[in-house]
Amino acid sequence: MCGIVGYFGDENVENVLTDKLEMLAYRGYDSAGVAVKGDGEIKATKEIGVLDNLKKILVPLDGARMGIGHTRWATHGEPSLSNAHPHLSNGGEWAVVHNGIIENHSRLRKELLQKGYNFLSKTDTEVVAVLLGDLYDTSKDVLQTIFNACSRLVGSYAFGILCRHDNRVFFAKRKSPLYVAKSGDKYLMASDPVCFVGFSDSYYDLDDGDFGYFGDLGLAFFDENANQIVKTPKKLTCKARDLTLDYPHYMIKEINECPLTVKNILDYYSSGSALNLDEEKIKKIKSIK
Ligand code: GLU
Repeated sequence: MCGIVGYFGDENVENVLTDKLEMLAYRGYDSAGVAVKGDGEIKATKEIGVLDNLKKILVPLDGARMGIGHTRWATHGEPSLSNAHPHLSNGGEWAVVHNGIIENHSRLRKELLQKGYNFLSKTDTEVVAVLLGDLYDTSKDVLQTIFNACSRLVGSYAFGILCRHDNRVFFAKRKSPLYVAKSGDKYLMASDPVCFVGFSDSYYDLDDGDFGYFGDLGLAFFDENANQIVKTPKKLTCKARDLTLDYPHYMIKEINECPLTVKNILDYYSSGSALNLDEEKIKKIKSIK
């Protein structure tokens, strides 16, 4: 599990991204990174370990108006600086943050290596960044490139994407959570709607195969067949979470919270719920599959 965020607006982009990543730290904390952009180059900064390590080295980019961010829990490639997100295409024209697993990454990597591209990491995600760079060379259309790239992927993804040639933040989702919110002409995307508390009282829930963008051109959604769609916002009901870490690190926090988590799950599924579990039924359960 990882956490991703994206932002377009007139506030300090680095601050917004790291504030929101803080709320997603429960999703991963072996490394963190952001990529930001004004009207020109993409600037990526990443660091291993907890988010505070990234904050210490982050230098704001003058004129930055948009960015994407990531807090990682590795699935492909060990926790390291080179495997931390964002990942860039060869030449740095594209930056990608990803939550999920690209199952056909080995095959795509082989294909791209044969075409002469290089890889700096062991991640499945870098394959997507390099693929975007390759496909853009043919179509020269940013949105079409993202659609074409996603059509080649097998597996799960929530992506935040920047392209040097465009002033929009792009997103795409399949089998990993991703949500978008709007507040005037500012936009946010995140792996968890909790990031929208204090930003907007509504948000958009993406369906599998959806992709789109936000930026100066507004907010647009497309379905898995690349047809533009209108989505209905949902009311934000979650509340801000207490982010105080009363433990030396997240793993010990998670271990200590296991009894409470199990209790919450049992309370949720006990009498009154669809499963209607009572103590007698729970005692008879031999295994959970
Ligand atoms: N597969 C990506 C990586 O290992 C993302 C990990 C995740 O979402 O858990 O960097």
